[in-house]
Order: sequence, then structure tokens, then C-alpha cells
Amino acid sequence: MRIWIDQATCQNSGLCEEEAPELFGIGNDFLAYVRQDGRLLEEPGGEESQAEVPEHLQELAELTARACPASCIHLID
Ligand code: SF4
Repeated sequence: MRIWIDQATCQNSGLCEEEAPELFGIGNDFLAYVRQDGRLLEEPGGEESQAEVPEHLQELAELTARACPASCIHLID
């Protein structure tokens, strides 16, 4: 499973980083980005920056995507 965030619609709620800091973080522009092995994928962001979700974090990724108030966290199986 891969995951990416559409920063164009992110509402900067901070919820994803709170719920799953292993998968998400807030960038210098105060929008959320995905993490790959701890590294924040800020460039270029959007669909171009997809992180591979480790097996043990997949349920958390799904739950967080559902909880995102902007529905801008996207999962690819
Ligand atoms: S939960 Fe959604 S809206 Fe909130 S910071 Fe994360 S991606 Fe943006």
C-alpha cells in the first residue's frame, strides 16, 4: 500500500500527524506530508510524493485517511 496527500485541499488540522506521526508530518508550509522511513516527502508533494506504508501501519493509515476532515489522504493498494 502507498499513501499520498493532496496538499491543495489539506486543511492543516494536524490530525494525521497527531494520530500517526510515523506516517505523516507537517511541512514548513504548515501543510501535511507523508513520511517514508521517517523522512518527510515535502518535494514535490501531492501525488508525486507517495510513501510505501509498512504492513503493520496499514490499518492506522486507513483509519487516519477516513478521519481526515478534508478527505485528502489517498491510499493506493
Ligand atoms: S488530517 Fe487531513 S486536513 Fe488534517 S493536516 Fe492531515 S491531511 Fe491535512
